Parts: sequence; structure tokens; C-alpha cells
Amino acid sequence: MTETFANFIDNRDVPAEQTMDTSDPFTGEVWAIVPDDPGAVDLAVNAARSAFDTGPWKTMPAKERAKLMVKLGELLSRDAAELAVIESRDNGKIIRETSAQTAGLANYLDYFAGYADKIQGTQIPSPAPNFLIYTERKPRGVVGAIVPWNSPLSLLVWKLGPLLAAGCTAVVKPSDITPVTALLLGQRAREAGFPPGVINVVTGGAEVGAALTAHPGLDLITFTGGGVTARHVAAAAAKNLTPTVLELGGKSPQIVFEDADVEAATNGLLAGIFAAGGQTCVAGSRAYLHESIADEVLGRVTQRAETIVLGDPGKMETEMGPVASDAQRDRILGMLERASNEGANVVTGGVVDPKLGGRFLRPTVLNNVTNQTSIVRQEVFGPVLACMTFSNEEEVLALANDSDFGLAAGVWTNDIRRAHRCSRDLDVGTVWINTYRNVSFAAPFGGTKQSGYGRDNGLEAIDAFLNTKTTWIETEGATRDPFVLG
Ligand code: NAD
Repeated sequence: MTETFANFIDNRDVPAEQTMDTSDPFTGEVWAIVPDDPGAVDLAVNAARSAFDTGPWKTMPAKERAKLMVKLGELLSRDAAELAVIESRDNGKIIRETSAQTAGLANYLDYFAGYADKIQGTQIPSPAPNFLIYTERKPRGVVGAIVPWNSPLSLLVWKLGPLLAAGCTAVVKPSDITPVTALLLGQRAREAGFPPGVINVVTGGAEVGAALTAHPGLDLITFTGGGVTARHVAAAAAKNLTPTVLELGGKSPQIVFEDADVEAATNGLLAGIFAAGGQTCVAGSRAYLHESIADEVLGRVTQRAETIVLGDPGKMETEMGPVASDAQRDRILGMLERASNEGANVVTGGVVDPKLGGRFLRPTVLNNVTNQTSIVRQEVFGPVLACMTFSNEEEVLALANDSDFGLAAGVWTNDIRRAHRCSRDLDVGTVWINTYRNVSFAAPFGGTKQSGYGRDNGLEAIDAFLNTKTTWIETEGATRDPFVLG
């Protein structure tokens, strides 16, 4: 049965006249109808503004803010199983992963809740004895938070944790592909006791996103998504001089050296590209294999790729679900065709699964590609691993860095000096040595180059949501030359 949802504004469920459908990528069936009304954005920004300027949130002691965040985490944990099912229904991600993600949401809120009452300024040494100078760290204000479809709730909580701890208020716009769980989070925020207007959620597509980013009432936009959209976001933000945090895509290299533990590396390559069907920003989509072990690693990866269990994302035994939309499937198939025309060899996969059909792409491994092949340069956002070989460290680091992106990299080696050299020289936001795809609330996450700027997670994530205010106090009643900068 189709469910209808309303926007969540000022702690109220606000229906919209303009709506859109959201479908289950596994069954293809429409299961929910949600608002798609750019007009709702103004209402939501105004609610967030009032909450920031005049509501109880403004004067609430940080410790109380923190308690609300912890309570929200508890409610998300209480409903983690239900939220995981909805998340899988919305984006086709396997329940194994969505269950782990929703069960872990509270950790992110707890971590930043613990920081809420430790946000403090400094006393600045004065250049003269008659001044007291100090700084305070003030919440930036109303934040527009736009998130993608691949990990909807997790990526949203990555933003809400630091922004709520900082004392900001938010207008959230989830992806048009996965709009429902953000609305459910809003309802749980109300249940937790958040004052009206602190968290608002407006659903919809590009027009709603564009209305939000163009709104002059925002003090910051934090965006996670693709590079093309990010350019629209940054351009709209520039018109109002609204600062932005951009967490974008990647084309992350995984380097397997000759001294690596081959079994662990194989596992890491699989985790990097076939978990979530490659629909993760950190997908390790470029594999550089040392020439002495390339055949062995390629053989192992191919063999395992061919036995990955595709199927219903709602079943625990499923290892890979469908890609999220028909458009995404067609885009990936188009990229594979172009790669073949450029000389790529399909070692395995490259097609829609003959038994399951629809949006199920076979886990795909390519070789006979170079850094110049288009599929090695562009983000696929699907289960496609491009394998290349190398002969020495200097060469492979140059190849790994030869990318427009800089989100993450994996390095497989048992040589500790080499591990540190690689970490030093890879131009990316995260390096994983002998592991891949680990994230934590405590570990800053973000990119270099076209993978964006700013950081989610870790203590420094909070910086984007704070302004520093400096106060000077003259303590002695001294007069000064009014015409000279003092
Ligand atoms: P997308 O860029 O298509 O959409 C992201 C969000 O922007 C969605 O909510 C969408 O509705 C909204 N949007 C679309 N047009 C807009 C506009 N003109 N103005 C404002 N908002 C607009 O991305 P996607 O397909 O949802 O997600 C996949 C991308 O996200 C990939 O590139 C992936 O690598 C990236 N991603 C990055 C991270 C990270 O932390 N770096 C994490 C996950 C995903």
C-alpha cells in the first residue's frame, strides 16, 4: 500500500500540494508519495530562523542541547530495525548494511553531544596592559543540509551531530530517491523534545534543492552529493556569499604491493567495490596490482565476484542488491560500452544479471585499461572494478594521484616504512592501510581536489558550524589617538 508523507516543518507535519513518488528499486513499485514543493523551502527556512533567533534553543544550556541529541539517538536506536527496512526499500541497499548503519546512528549523536558543552573560546594575550581580549565560538545560524541517496540517514546524522552540538538549526533536504527516513528522523526529533524549528525536513528533487541553496536566509550550506550538483550548489551559494561544505564523489585507488597479504587484499578489494554495489563515495574503483602478484589477485577477485549473492536487499544472505534506479543502470552500461570501445577487457560481469534482470548488474571486473580510459577517470557509482598493473612504488603513487578526485585510497603492504610513505604522498582525504571502508564519528572524513572541501566527522567537523567572535575590553579608562589604528 502506498503511504503519503508530509514535510516536517516547525515540528508539524505540513502536507504539500505538489508531490512526487518514491519507488522500491528491487520491486520497482511506488511505495510512498512525498512533497516536492519548492514553496515549502521558505516556510522551513523561516521556521529555522525563528528557532535560531528567538526560540528556546537559542538560550538553552549546551548540556540540555546535548541531552536532546542523546535522546534522539536513543529513539533512532529504538527504531533502528524499522528504519533499516525503509532505508533498504528506498535505495535497494542490503539490509545487512542498512541495519548496521541505523544501529550505529546514536554513536554519532552521542559523540557530538559530548562536545556541545566543551565548545569554548580563548583569552588572547593583549598587545597592551589595558585590554582584555577574548573569543567566543558562536553557532553560525541556519544551515541547509542536502544529502544523497546512498546512505541517507547516516550521512544526515554526520551533519546533524556537529551542527546541533554547535547550536545551529537546520533545513534538511534528503535525496528525491530516498526521502522518507529523514522525515521519520524529524518526527523522532519532535518526540525527543527538540523545540519547533530546530530540525526541519523538506523533501523533493532538484527544484527544491535549488530553492534551498538560493535562499538568502541560510548561514551555511553543507552538501553531500555529486560534483555536477555541487557546482550548482556552490554557484547559488555564491550569489548570497553563503559558505559551503562540499562532500563529493571519488575514484579511489587501491594499491596492492608485492609484499601484501594477498587474501586480505582480495577481501579489501571486494569490500571496496562490491559492498553496496559500488554505490559509495569511497568505492575503491581503481585497483593497481603489482605485476608480480597481479594474476593471482585478479584471479581471486574474479572468482569471488562471480559468487557474490545477488538478490532481495531485504534478505540477510544477500551480498549485493540492485543499483538504485533504471537511469543509474543505463548510465553504468553506457560507461562500460564506452570502456570496451576504448579497449577495456571485461574479465567478469559487464551485463545485467541474466536471471534477476532489471536493475541487477553483475559484479564487474575490467582489465586492459589505463589511467587514460574514461571509466578509470570518471566516478561510476556502481559495481565496476578497473584493474591495472605497476612495477614500482614511485610509478604507482603517480598513477594513484593522477585523478581529478581525492577522497580515499587503500594501500596493501606489510612494509611499515612503505605504508607511511604512501600515506604521506597520496593526495586524498583518507588513507586506509591494510583495511578499507572504515568510518567513525571520531575520524574526520572528506576530500581533496574535486572530492570537495570541509570535513564531516571528528572534532573538526564542528568548525564549519561555528563563527569566532572577538571581544576587546578597555580596562583602565585610557584615551587613544582617534585617528590611528590602535
Ligand atoms: P546528487 O548530486 O545527484 O544529489 C545530491 C542531493 O542534491 C540530492 O538531495 C538531490 O536531490 C540534490 N539536488 C539535486 N539537484 C540539486 C540542485 N540543483 N540544487 C540543490 N540540490 C540539488 O548525488 P546523488 O546521486 O544523490 O549521490 C551520489 C553522489 O554523492 C556520488 O557522487 C557520491 O560519490 C557522492 N557521495 C559523497 C559522499 C561523501 O561523503 N563525500 C558520501 C556519499 C555520496
